[in-house]
Amino acid sequence: MRDDFPLPTKELLAERVAYRCSNPECRQVTSGPQKDPTKSINIGVAAHITAASAGGPRFNPSMTPDERRSAGNGIWLCQSCAKLVDNDPTRYGVDVLHRWKELAEKTATLELERRSSSYANSSNMFVKLENIMPDLIAEMRKDLTSNPLSREFVILKKSWVYGGKGYELVYYFDDHSDLENKLLILQNYGLIQDITYNNTTRYIITEELASYLTRE
Ligand SMILES: [Zn+2]
Repeated sequence: MRDDFPLPTKELLAERVAYRCSNPECRQVTSGPQKDPTKSINIGVAAHITAASAGGPRFNPSMTPDERRSAGNGIWLCQSCAKLVDNDPTRYGVDVLHRWKELAEKTATLELERRSSSYANSSNMFVKLENIMPDLIAEMRKDLTSNPLSREFVILKKSWVYGGKGYELVYYFDDHSDLENKLLILQNYGLIQDITYNNTTRYIITEELASYLTRE
């Protein structure tokens, strides 16, 4: 017995991500016209985050059939990515799929609100960053949400003595692997500026990054 999604649920999942594959590395458009003007093509799949039946990928026996066929348990993917995530459920676990879904929905909101295509490119950039450095972005988001006017940050080791001005945000090498490389990437994207002085590596967060991080 498979707990398949009803058609309206499938349509809902597709619409919530603007009919694009939710895998942040893919983002394939999944619908378009057929030659026949009365028909359309769909190469998207409403994939189950936890499988529709026992023995399937990521199956969770503690869920009810209703939960299993609800929108909350679905993610819109292209056919290749649907196959990919089901063939390697260890690599593509429930957490990964939930993160993809959340990012894809967030991107769809950003694109809907900002109609310019340059914004579509910049939202792809943020999707990429969330994927490369999720922990750093999450920590910056938390910091800026509680200190919405902060723009300056320093990077330190926890063992260093640092007499700060008190209002800077601080990120520690101890908490983030490859912190310098991650900051270089942010700098390459023009999202932070190096203003190092007094022998302390110091950056300014640009308004573009700040507004992305504090967006609901
Ligand atoms: Zn895909």
